[in-house]
Amino acid sequence: MTETLLQPAKTCELHIHMGGGVFAEDLLDLAREHYEYIDWSLYIDQFEQAYGQRPDPVALFRDALEHGQLDALKEHYVYGDRDRGDFAQFQAKFNMAICVYRHWWSALGDQDEIWRRVIAHHRREGLRYVEYRSMAPYDHTQADAFVQFHQRTARVIHESNTPDFEARYLISLPRWAPLECYHLVQRLLDENEGLVPTIVGLDFCHFEEGYPPAGTRAFFQRLRCDNELRPGRALDVAYHVGEVYFDKSLESAVRWCHEAAELGAIRLGHCTALGLDPAAAVARRPQAHELELVDERVAQIRYDLRYRNDLERCGVAIDARALERELDNLADWPRDEPIHRAYAPERLADVRRRQDLVLNRLSELGVVIETCPTSNLRIGAVPDPQAHPIHRFLASDVRLAIGADDPGIFDCTLADEIEWVQRHAGLDPAALHNRLGDPRHYRCGQHRT
Ligand SMILES: [Zn+2]
Repeated sequence: MTETLLQPAKTCELHIHMGGGVFAEDLLDLAREHYEYIDWSLYIDQFEQAYGQRPDPVALFRDALEHGQLDALKEHYVYGDRDRGDFAQFQAKFNMAICVYRHWWSALGDQDEIWRRVIAHHRREGLRYVEYRSMAPYDHTQADAFVQFHQRTARVIHESNTPDFEARYLISLPRWAPLECYHLVQRLLDENEGLVPTIVGLDFCHFEEGYPPAGTRAFFQRLRCDNELRPGRALDVAYHVGEVYFDKSLESAVRWCHEAAELGAIRLGHCTALGLDPAAAVARRPQAHELELVDERVAQIRYDLRYRNDLERCGVAIDARALERELDNLADWPRDEPIHRAYAPERLADVRRRQDLVLNRLSELGVVIETCPTSNLRIGAVPDPQAHPIHRFLASDVRLAIGADDPGIFDCTLADEIEWVQRHAGLDPAALHNRLGDPRHYRCGQHRT
């Protein structure tokens, strides 16, 4: 009985990247006939830079195939608990898969087989509904390649649907060219009507630093118009935000989450900035979050003036005159100059109130936070399980979905993630089920008419 209660959460995956979904055994299988011919230079060089030792992938694959032993291969691919916290190390290990993908794409002209194996693994694992997302290795400057990559990926996903397994696709738009690439997605849908039921949304992922949500305003406006015009193929937006944000103040990181929701995203990925305690956040590095660009500070002041009443209701004191004076002073500063503001206990307390304000606002809007415990601990700079933002999220009213993010490279399943939450939140299955509900209620594309 207790097992079945959490089945909806354990079988519906809303936050997963195709590229990070390949498990070591599938990678071994994909490289079986090819490992001696694959160009491993990207993996070898970056692994050496990140870990200080030069790996020999050919020997790793040969040994794994000859002895049926995955341990050494996994040690060089899986980004585990011991690696924690360094994105360069994560990328270095991930590059092993990227070298295999590139070989399949370039030398063999086939990306479909990789995705088929990713999906087959998740089906075997017991997943029943999955929304895959993927970033193309191209943007609008290689328009045909961009369209073709997503068309092929969507087709494999489309063909994987069976009565007991549903898969959908969210196309990841590069943060530096959302509108341009969105037009290409529309072209893809025009040319492939049969893929419309599969392509249900759009996603923003990868490095967020340097790409404020405000930069996607024109894209969201256009999307809203198109969705109204053609509700039968309306696209929803999932948006990674507040995941890694050392380039700015805690206030700005909270604001980014708020802005992404107000712009129209229906689900937000991670939002660590809304749930990690500010005192823990600033203790992560010397002078963490004390510097940000003048541009961000100006945007924050404007936000504080705009939301003054809401902030004051939450107990954040807003000195409008002082903020307007600061705005005047900053008018002559170069916008890309760093500005320093240290933290005092009262400022940290205010950040907590701002987090509450935005969590409440997300609840009002019905926006979902997708939280990925293992990913946040290993690459999201969450210091330990007790500090994980999920505790704040669970205590709030915000809609919440749990995802595995890159399960292949983390070597964990969605069920592991749900059990992690149960264990660390101290909730029995019934209580956790009551809090989470069925994540299928949060799927993209469900309001199409
Ligand atoms: Zn993600």
